[in-house]
Amino acid sequence: MNEPLQVPETKKTDWTAITRRLAPVEIIDEPVLVKKRSRDFFWYSPILNQQLRKCFGDLVARPQTREELGHCLAVAYAEDIPVVLRGGGTGNYGQAVPLEGGLIVETTRMNRILEIGEGFVRVEAGALMADINAALIPEGWEMAMFPSTQDIATVGGFVAGGSAGIGSVANGPLRESGNIIRIKALSMEAEPVEHVFDAAEVLQIHHAWGLNGAITEVTLRTVPTRDWIGCMVGFDSYADCYRAGYALASAPEEEIARKLCSTVDARICDYFPRLEDHVPRGRHLLVSLVPREQLPAFRSLMEAHGGTVHLAMDEAERARLKLPHVFEFAYNHTTLQVLKSDRNATYQQIGVPDPSDGERVAAMREKLGDDVWSHHEFTRAGGKVLAADLPIIWYQGPQRLAEINATYESDGFTVYDAHVNVIEGNHMQPDYRHLAWKKRLDPKGLMNPGKSRAWERIRHMDAQEIEAMGQAKEI
Ligand SMILES: Cc1cc2nc3c(=O)[nH]c(=O)nc-3n(C[C@H](O)[C@H](O)[C@H](O)COP(=O)(O)OP(=O)(O)OC[C@H]3O[C@@H](n4cnc5c(N)ncnc54)[C@H](O)[C@@H]3O)c2cc1C
Repeated sequence: MNEPLQVPETKKTDWTAITRRLAPVEIIDEPVLVKKRSRDFFWYSPILNQQLRKCFGDLVARPQTREELGHCLAVAYAEDIPVVLRGGGTGNYGQAVPLEGGLIVETTRMNRILEIGEGFVRVEAGALMADINAALIPEGWEMAMFPSTQDIATVGGFVAGGSAGIGSVANGPLRESGNIIRIKALSMEAEPVEHVFDAAEVLQIHHAWGLNGAITEVTLRTVPTRDWIGCMVGFDSYADCYRAGYALASAPEEEIARKLCSTVDARICDYFPRLEDHVPRGRHLLVSLVPREQLPAFRSLMEAHGGTVHLAMDEAERARLKLPHVFEFAYNHTTLQVLKSDRNATYQQIGVPDPSDGERVAAMREKLGDDVWSHHEFTRAGGKVLAADLPIIWYQGPQRLAEINATYESDGFTVYDAHVNVIEGNHMQPDYRHLAWKKRLDPKGLMNPGKSRAWERIRHMDAQEIEAMGQAKEI
């Protein structure tokens, strides 16, 4: 389980000749920089770190337009070279790590914001989410959701590799109908063709890890912006903190339209040195973003659950206090804060079966023991409140990790394993729509090879046959 992946022997490629053929596309061939761009945040997992740390690409291309991106794909297709698309490289499962070497195509120069309209924004795939929000806010809009990595993550990487983020407790996950309006993607063929996926069709390419086409452009839903106040609320017990989180996530929008609702165990909060002068130590924290005019209702709700609001800051106050955004103490930034001080930590992704059942969550905490520290994220899907535990785990080896997973599963919690590097690994069934589109858009199977187990079994079939396998499953 812990062995480095056996990297297949690749045929000898003349990278100097490939570099010449890729002109005028900008190239990075300096080995240290190519190695750097072969990594993402897989090192959160000691298991993936062991497997992936020696997997590198051979060359990086940085196209500036979709024509240049198409040129990269055509050259790689002609030479049978594997291609891995890369945005900011902030994925957690090694999604952007080349397992078979080859060409890394980094999209960050394709970063134009093309159109801002009523309730939507149309952007190139390499645009950073922080830049999109910065362009939207003066127009009265903001992204319906974005990951806590907004400063370095691209919109293409979010749509291809992410799932939810800040805003999802109000507006649902990315896959919820209407959140992704349109995706355009190029095929990897002798002459790449741009395909357009609208409305429900976006699910054919969303969260496909760059296996089935190179996303060039994305149109996303936007929502009217509000005057958000970043809040940190302290509790004496995690059980009260969690219950307050559930109550906040369930509150009607017209009362408290929170766009973030995270609860963090006090032992984790002790790893947040930036909060030292603002939040007393030893407190379990609820982290939220609340519209200014609803702050009184928020305070009442928190006090009713035994909480004390330690911080409530708008952007000006945040700048004065020199603090990061509150969401940098939520989602997978929580894990990062701990890892900054101690590399023995890791994490897991757990679905809570009934988020309203605080007793069951408390009982699970008891069962798990001292090496597992809770951190819950509340979101909504189809109007229903969901909760996910992203606990800090003090890693003692794969056997103890398996025991922890089994403890969660013994009471109906779902483990979406964060320590697996294939798309079907996170407790997901093969998505035959993705794979049918892979056959259509990547007929030679050169895009992000090694990241789908199911593909290896069905790659000889034609696209219709692959799609039919999915339909058979749904019956
Ligand atoms: C500290 C931290 C916090 C995080 N918080 C969140 C969070 O709140 N919500 C969340 O969902 N995720 C989160 N993540 C995971 C990750 O940051 C997000 O999914 C992010 O949006 C990925 O964007 P990226 O540009 O870095 O993608 P990359 O890591 O570069 O790529 C991700 C995947 O998308 C593919 N890809 C990239 N660009 C394209 C393209 N143009 N066409 C086709 N495929 C492409 C890559 O091949 C790869 O498989 C977090 C990670 C960290 C380390």
